[in-house]
Amino acid sequence: MNSPTQLIDQFNRKITYVRLSVTDRCDFRCVYCMSEKMTFLPRAQLLTLEELEWLGRAFLELGVTKIRLTGGEPLVRHNILQLFQGLGRLSGLKELVLTTNGSQLIKMAQPLKAAGVKRINISLDSLNPARFQNMTRVGKLEGVLRGIDAAIQVGFERVKLNAVILKNRNHDEVIDLVQFAVNRGIDISFIEEMPLGTIGSHDRAEAFYASEQIRDDLKSSFTLIPSTEKTAGPSKYYRVAHTDTRVGFISPHSHNFCDTCNRVRVTTEGRLLLCLGQEHSVDLRRVIRANPGDIEPLKQAIIKAIAIKPQKHDFELDSAPQILRYMNMTGG
Ligand code: SAM
Ligand code: SF4
Repeated sequence: MNSPTQLIDQFNRKITYVRLSVTDRCDFRCVYCMSEKMTFLPRAQLLTLEELEWLGRAFLELGVTKIRLTGGEPLVRHNILQLFQGLGRLSGLKELVLTTNGSQLIKMAQPLKAAGVKRINISLDSLNPARFQNMTRVGKLEGVLRGIDAAIQVGFERVKLNAVILKNRNHDEVIDLVQFAVNRGIDISFIEEMPLGTIGSHDRAEAFYASEQIRDDLKSSFTLIPSTEKTAGPSKYYRVAHTDTRVGFISPHSHNFCDTCNRVRVTTEGRLLLCLGQEHSVDLRRVIRANPGDIEPLKQAIIKAIAIKPQKHDFELDSAPQILRYMNMTGG
């Protein structure tokens, strides 16, 4: 039995969705996410798999119904299936979902499905192998494409692609990417780049490519019908006429989605982050480790933290990044 949500912030938003970053490590080095030379956290600073499951349980007891595992690349964390299986057994969880770069899906799609994962988001920024490698710095397109097909074959309720679009890097591929999704009967979301961390590879203001521009580009090839379906995420959705595919736009710059925000994030180190674009946070790892076996102090710390959830994010592309943490620590 799930309890009614006890997590309501001062702007009357119900928090029912948590994203857990399970590792800051990754087998890719995407140009918008990481710098070329990253230093990763020492293992002792990460929440253990048991602590992550404990945290999941506390959130569920407070009325959360959806948990997304992300990272870094969640599927490169050693024994990560154990966490999916543990969370999948907890009562109150309606949706267990995952964001992945797809590199491990050929072997992991089936066990993830068996563990109770319902829906899966897979990042795919380019269909051109050289360009894909350029954007991920090291990734191989072929393995990801086979991973996407494996995910479709095992029959997740929904498979969605995520593409970060950068001007003069991959903006000319938006039609091909939608066609790729249409051919497979899956969804796709386009994401505006967010200024998280110092990346060094490009000027974020110059690379900005607005969702509205993408929508215009798609008009020559597809009819997009605004969708009334509500999802728990920040995407604004359109249905591609005569297909099963929905196209979403995640537009932190051109469309502020904060008024309906229903989610919080937990970083790899167990910091409860109340807004992706602000630094307000609470150290839950300290609470977990100070109270072994006692879930109440953890639940109280979460309830107290929700009171400081900021009203909105504040991203500026032209100034130096105000948020120094990288996306891989935060969990996208
Ligand atoms: N490694 C997995 C992946 O790539 O899907 C999960 C973690 S990744 C941080 C989650 C999502 O964040 C990906 O879709 C990625 O494209 C997106 N992302 C990373 N850095 C970003 C940034 N600076 N702005 C916008 N999206 C970003
Ligand atoms: Fe890794 Fe995902 Fe970041 Fe790319 S976006 S470097 S795949 S964590």
